[in-house]
Amino acid sequence: MEGKDKENITIVGAGLVGCLLACYLGKRGYKVTVYEKRADRRKASAGAGRSINLACSDRGWQALDHIGLGDVVRQEAIPMRGRMLHSQEEQLNFQPYGTGNQAIYSVSRGGLNSILMEHAENDFGVEFVFDMKCMDVDLETAKATFLHYGTKQEHHIQSDVILGADGAFSRVRGIMQRMDHFDYTQDYIESDYKELCIPAGADGNHVLDKEALHIWPRGKFMLIALPNPDGSFTCTLFMPYEGVPSFEQLNNPAEIEKYFKEVFPDAYRIMPSLKQDFEENPQASLVIIRCHPWNYKGKVCLIGDASHAIVPFYGQGMNSGFEDVYVLDQMIDKYEGDWNNILPAFTKLRKPDADAIADLALYNYRVMADSVNDPDFLLRKKLEHRIMELYPEKYKSLYSMVTFSHMRYSEAKRRGIAQDERFKKIISEHDVASMFKREEIDAFIHKNLDILIHS
Ligand SMILES: Cc1cc2nc3c(=O)[nH]c(=O)nc-3n(C[C@H](O)[C@H](O)[C@H](O)COP(=O)(O)OP(=O)(O)OC[C@H]3O[C@@H](n4cnc5c(N)ncnc54)[C@H](O)[C@@H]3O)c2cc1C
Repeated sequence: MEGKDKENITIVGAGLVGCLLACYLGKRGYKVTVYEKRADRRKASAGAGRSINLACSDRGWQALDHIGLGDVVRQEAIPMRGRMLHSQEEQLNFQPYGTGNQAIYSVSRGGLNSILMEHAENDFGVEFVFDMKCMDVDLETAKATFLHYGTKQEHHIQSDVILGADGAFSRVRGIMQRMDHFDYTQDYIESDYKELCIPAGADGNHVLDKEALHIWPRGKFMLIALPNPDGSFTCTLFMPYEGVPSFEQLNNPAEIEKYFKEVFPDAYRIMPSLKQDFEENPQASLVIIRCHPWNYKGKVCLIGDASHAIVPFYGQGMNSGFEDVYVLDQMIDKYEGDWNNILPAFTKLRKPDADAIADLALYNYRVMADSVNDPDFLLRKKLEHRIMELYPEKYKSLYSMVTFSHMRYSEAKRRGIAQDERFKKIISEHDVASMFKREEIDAFIHKNLDILIHS
């Protein structure tokens, strides 16, 4: 289904999701214009220091491959085959993410954004307008008003459809909130985050295993590190914004140094610019946003973080936004380009999945914060891991269903909850810990396989 008579489509926001969406719609022949409030990152970011990365997994790759950009992005992506857990006693424990060659990939956020912009513009005829902040949208007529940062002049546009890909604090959503029957919730979690850095070693190579996502789990706070192609790692420190310990408490170089030396001793030794990074890099909050409906008739629709911002503990925010684009594209085919059908159907189909991944990401945050020291939880994970080792074809963990499949998030969540309940029951009825010690666990799993893997 090609762009019907070259309808005009306005996308608000040239972030990751807005740019991928622009590629998809441009490829279909729509006349696509993307308005972005910031400057053109391709000009502004040259040599602009910090390298920030994120994890791309199967849902993200599916959406990139479908438009022919997967291999371009893969060239700079680094596979992370598992999580490397660093204990406070400096013990390392590697846990593979999946089986065989399964991996999630560290990709540069800025690099990926630039690739998408470049291809949208050069291959798919998309026009980008920068320094233009969306101020208002008329939902009935798909007219919008933008303010140019430089000239301070207002710019009015008329479109056939407006798609709001303007992120967690979406202006388009803010305008939709004035509608009757628009549901909206915004929940901050108690943790904020800050990006830090582990630089390359003297030889230019990575100083930690580069094919792992490194995690220093410490209950209510946690440090993670993802590799970059230049030999460095981008680290993210998650910790409460107030209380003990908290960002509020770490307010001077001596406190920062003392805290890191004690809590993340092995990381501390390889973070020479820690105090400077800590001081210079912003502390940011983490928010969960849910709303409904995402669309106003066939005229305006939210997508990506604008419609469902989630916490980053499943590494699925961008991946789910990219999957939104993939699903919207299927709706265009299904409803033969009729936006009056496409947008309501997209909301209806996708909203339960967005809710499910929001719940799962929050669940993972609680797991990381509270369950790393819960013996029952660790035993359930050990049992699950052994089942996966013995029967990789028959059993898929919740993590695998979310990360390495295209199963609907809502279905993955349903199955994951059921699996967890089954494991809880088995562990309460049988002495599974002793079976591991006596090496009887494989026989037990084999005997109870039907119950254990039932989906
Ligand atoms: C610490 C952290 C780690 C993360 N790690 C991962 C990960 O490993 N894997 C993963 O899949 N996801 C991850 N995410 C989530 C991911 O970053 C987001 O889901 C993704 O960036 C959403 O893309 P988006 O295009 O919807 O929104 P954004 O990236 O926020 O882009 C929105 C764009 O809209 C522009 N804009 C905003 N308002 C206006 C306006 N009024 N007018 C015009 N333009 C406007 C903004 O400038 C921006 O360019 C992480 C998030 C965080 C916070």
